[in-house]
Amino acid sequence: MKPSDMRHVYGPVLSRRLGRSLGIDLVPFKVCTYDCIYCQLGRTTDLTLERKAYVTAENIMAELAPILTAAHRPDYISLAGSGEPTLNSAIGEVIRRIKQQTEIPVAVLTNGALLWMAEVQQALLAADLVLPSLDAGDDGLFQKINRPHQALSFERMVDGLAAFTRRFAGAVWLEVLLLKGMTGTAAEVEKIATHVNRINPARVQLNTVCRPPAETMASPLSSGQLHALGALFAVPVDIVSYDDTATVTVSTAGNVREADILAMLERRPCTADDVARGLGIHVNEALKHLAALVTAGRLATKTNEGRNFYTTTEEHER
Ligand code: SF4
Repeated sequence: MKPSDMRHVYGPVLSRRLGRSLGIDLVPFKVCTYDCIYCQLGRTTDLTLERKAYVTAENIMAELAPILTAAHRPDYISLAGSGEPTLNSAIGEVIRRIKQQTEIPVAVLTNGALLWMAEVQQALLAADLVLPSLDAGDDGLFQKINRPHQALSFERMVDGLAAFTRRFAGAVWLEVLLLKGMTGTAAEVEKIATHVNRINPARVQLNTVCRPPAETMASPLSSGQLHALGALFAVPVDIVSYDDTATVTVSTAGNVREADILAMLERRPCTADDVARGLGIHVNEALKHLAALVTAGRLATKTNEGRNFYTTTEEHER
């Protein structure tokens, strides 16, 4: 058994949206309601709407408890990982139990596809921050980009985003990921902005492809294009790009274990800089561990848009 097989808590990783974030993976690779063409995890292997306790709250809390007493406090505990976290029917219990044990804010990174369901809305109410997605302004591009489960409709998804945002006392930051030649035009962004006005999130986080995507047709916009398109929204907009990581401060490291690096890379491809910043170590230290794992055949490298990413070579447990 791999050392990382039984782990659902990983990081802290450097998140471009949340700073240093301790991740909790609530579903196995790769259980999702969508099969996005830009997904950094690759293609969805289990496209489903079935909600169940893929991982129990007991298992999560048993892993989390010793980490919460460690010296280095992350900026957020984030529920995300290898698919869509709201598919785990225990998500509400997980959030409530974390809140009983720590004051570290809890964020949920979700594609938002199930927010029309009353039980999913109810489960997320105890979180501090919810970050759902809206990547298209109409059903045609929703189907093309997010490739949702056939029982999901664009209208219901947008209605769910609006209904949850009205009900939620915490903050909703809506991610809009734009793609070159698809949604990266003023006309398409204006359509998305119309829905955003109705949803009324605290902010929009405007993003593009920054890591190797599931499909090569998913191409990024430039930072300049993102800034220009960001001006079309009526709500506050953050431009999220990998350059933003330069502002994140890291603390000094404890002992780095290879299992921590592997657990991080199982969830997403990372550069050496991502690994260094996530674990709070110097980049040279990260490169030393990464080179050893490549030599051992446990990591591979992949170049995307001129940047070198590390990925795991081992089979994901399905
Ligand atoms: S990007 Fe998120 S929502 Fe889309 S397929 Fe990947 S895990 Fe699912």
